Amino acid sequence: MTQLVWGYLDEYEQERDDILDAVDTVFRSGKLVLGPSVKQFEEEFAAYHGIAHCAGVDNGTNAIVLGLRAIGVGPGDEVITVSNTAAPTVVAIDAVGATPVFVDIHEDTCLMDVGQVESAITDRTRCLLPVHLYGQCADMDAVTAIAGKHGLTVLEDCAQAHGARYRGRLAGTMGEAAAFSFYPTKVLGAYGDGGATITGDAQVDANLRRLRYYGMEQVYHVVETPGYNSRLDEVQAEILRRKLRRLDAYIEARQAIAARYAEALAGTDLVLPRIADGNSHVYYLYAVHHPARDKILAALRERGISLSISYPWPVHRQRGFAHLGYGQGALPVTERSAEQVFSLPMYPSLSRGDQDKVIDALLDVLATM
Ligand SMILES: *Cc1c(COP(=O)(O)O)cnc(C)c1O
Repeated sequence: MTQLVWGYLDEYEQERDDILDAVDTVFRSGKLVLGPSVKQFEEEFAAYHGIAHCAGVDNGTNAIVLGLRAIGVGPGDEVITVSNTAAPTVVAIDAVGATPVFVDIHEDTCLMDVGQVESAITDRTRCLLPVHLYGQCADMDAVTAIAGKHGLTVLEDCAQAHGARYRGRLAGTMGEAAAFSFYPTKVLGAYGDGGATITGDAQVDANLRRLRYYGMEQVYHVVETPGYNSRLDEVQAEILRRKLRRLDAYIEARQAIAARYAEALAGTDLVLPRIADGNSHVYYLYAVHHPARDKILAALRERGISLSISYPWPVHRQRGFAHLGYGQGALPVTERSAEQVFSLPMYPSLSRGDQDKVIDALLDVLATM
C-alpha cells in the first residue's frame, strides 16, 4: 500500500542512473557545502522563474523563516495567512516572533478568501502570506492590490505550487519573496530536505544569504543576529538540478492523472478540485471533499487502500497554537473542509493500473454511502 503514497520510490527506479550520477559528481568534486551545484541550481531555478535571485536553504520551513526575516518581518508584527495549510507555514511565522492572523478560505478552491483580508489588518500587520495550496495560486491580483494599498509586504508559500501559473505568471514571482520546499513528495522534490527562497530584490537576496550563513557576510565575521546555518545541501542541489529539467514533464503527468480522476469520478457526489479562474493547477495533491469522509476512508482501508488527509486539523485548532485564541467555529469554512477533505494518490509515476484500483474501489464504496 505504501507505494500509493510514496511515489518517489517508483521514480527512483526510473531515474536511478541520473540520481546516482548526481551524487557521485558531488562526492568526487570535494566541494560538499555551498559548492558549484548549489550555485548552479540557484541560477537555474531563478531562470526557470524569470526572476533575478534564488537562495537555496535547508528546507521549506526555513525558506519561510528566512524569507520573512529578509523582508523585514519580526517580533511584534502580524502576518495574515490561512489555517488550512501545512503547519510549517505557521510554525515559520511564529519562529520569527511574529503573530499569525488567520482568514477563512473559499469553499470551492480552499484558497485564501482575500475578501476577508482587509478587515483583519491592524496597525501591526506587516505581511500577507498566501499559500498556493494543493498546487494552484491564491488570488494574487487581489493580494498584491491590498498589500499595495496598505503598505504591506507579500511572501508567497509556494511549497505546493512549483510551476503553477496565475494569469500566466509563475507562482513565486508575484510578491516580495517566495518560499519553496523540496521535501521529497513535493512537485519538485529532493532526496531529503531542501528549500529555496526566490526574490526580485537584490537586498532581500543579500539578507537571505547572510541569514542562512550564520549572519555572516564574510567568513568568520557575524554582522547580524540571530543567524542560522540553513544552507541547501550540495548533493540535494545537484539532484534538484537534474530534476528541474523534468519539472514540466512531472507537472504534465500530474495533470493527466488529475484529468483521469475527474473523468472517472464526475458522476459521483464527491466534490472534486475546482480550478480558480486564470490558474493552471500542478496537482501537488488531488484533494476531494465528502461529508462522509471518515466512513469512506474506513471502507477503503478494509480494501487495502489507505488514503491521506491534508490536513486533518486546521492550524488554529492545534494545541501548540491554542494561545492564539481561535475557538471552534472561528473559521467555519476551514473547519468544515478539514472534516471532509481527503487526498487521492497523486505522483507522476502513478501507474494507470494503480489509479484504476483506487477509482474502482472508490466508486464501489461511494455507491454504498
Ligand atoms: C511542505 C510545506 C512546507 C514546509 O516545507 P518543509 O520542506 O517540509 O519544511 C511549508 N508550507 C507548505 C504549504 C508545505 O506544503
